[in-house]
Amino acid sequence: MQYIKCMSEVIDIISKKRDGLSLTSREIQFIIDGIVNNSIPDYQASAFLMAAVINGFDHNETLALTKAYMHSGDIIDLSDIPGIKVDKHSTGGVGDKTTIVLAPLVAAAGCKAVKISGKGMGHTGGTVDKFAAFTGMSMELDSQTLLNNVKKIGVGISGQTVNLVPADKIIYALRDVTATIPSIPLITASIMSKKLASGADAIVLDVKTGSGSFMSDYKDSLKLAETMVKIGNAMGRRTVAIISNMEQPLGRAIGNINEVIEAIEVLKGNGPSDVQELCMVLGAEMMCLSGLAENEKEARRMLEEVIRSGAALDKLRQLVRIQGGDPAMIDDLEMFEKATGSYELLSSDTGYLNELEARTVGRASMILGAGRETLDSSIDMTAGIYLHKKCGDYVRAGDVLATLENCNPEKLKTASELLRTAYHFSENAKGVPELILRKIG
Ligand code: URA
Repeated sequence: MQYIKCMSEVIDIISKKRDGLSLTSREIQFIIDGIVNNSIPDYQASAFLMAAVINGFDHNETLALTKAYMHSGDIIDLSDIPGIKVDKHSTGGVGDKTTIVLAPLVAAAGCKAVKISGKGMGHTGGTVDKFAAFTGMSMELDSQTLLNNVKKIGVGISGQTVNLVPADKIIYALRDVTATIPSIPLITASIMSKKLASGADAIVLDVKTGSGSFMSDYKDSLKLAETMVKIGNAMGRRTVAIISNMEQPLGRAIGNINEVIEAIEVLKGNGPSDVQELCMVLGAEMMCLSGLAENEKEARRMLEEVIRSGAALDKLRQLVRIQGGDPAMIDDLEMFEKATGSYELLSSDTGYLNELEARTVGRASMILGAGRETLDSSIDMTAGIYLHKKCGDYVRAGDVLATLENCNPEKLKTASELLRTAYHFSENAKGVPELILRKIG
């Protein structure tokens, strides 16, 4: 009897969404609970998700969905740590090593930075993999150790060790095989529930747009950013989003060990200007949301000072040491493992490099072994690509476009053939694409 009642309620809710009506919080909670405890079968969950993709969710429904996701598992309590705790999230891109720079950078300037990070997937990289470049460094901290580390040194970073948002794991897997990923409310609930359950008081979102991001259209990225900011604020967390350009990769190093080395260079005050600038923009937001700076100008000045004084680099040493890694590697980059083989990709064109497709570069890097095809595939930490030319550069035939690194000649050949297709030249200069496109919140 109970089973029949439940069955008919699920059908009623699916029908309501199919007909474009708004659902109540209770109905949304009922569906999410049912999916998580397996009382709603996959075929009904899929029908519900498809109706949601087609007819959308309004603000109240998106909020209810985010809350239902968030409360499906553990919630990290950071209230023991004094001050405003701030988190930063990127929607994922190619060459994005900003967390490795930002976590120690803002912590050196007084922020309490707590970060639960993910592994790389497909053509985009992940922070958990990159930090594994430090011999011995643990990225699997339990909540208490993470808390203690933030109390001691102002920064802590871990992969997902607790049972955070199981609803997202189950529903994302279903969305992946039912063509129901592209929905702003579903993406918002998926991302924001994980951020909210991670416990920070303030959240800075780096929403990527362009070929290397999962949302390539600018208008969609803007809508996603606005929706996430509104949900974060409605949940009582100070939330800001920056829309940044991911048409071409960020920085010059794409991979894992090579990206960590580039991040260390940025903390030393060197490194590519786009990585420097994005870290300054995101870091300044983190400083302002934490109440440590009045405005962006003051925040930048504070961040520049901790880079100049060496405090930011020292904070990275502390972070690596406290999580069991070897901080000596930061001062002796030769200690990082290196690929035994490499290949230089030469240009066959002359002209201005006007387009360098981030997605294709990411896929070439994946072929080399720097990225994952599936969640359980292993990665080669030494594999990667170094981009000698970027958008806006004038290139002559025979110039080195990129160096690919891997010990396997076959992989070098296949990846370099694909990488060549990422480059688009023209006689006329289009200039360097704008990096920061918009701020929301
Ligand atoms: N990233 C997420 O975490 N969830 C989505 O739904 C899409 C991208």
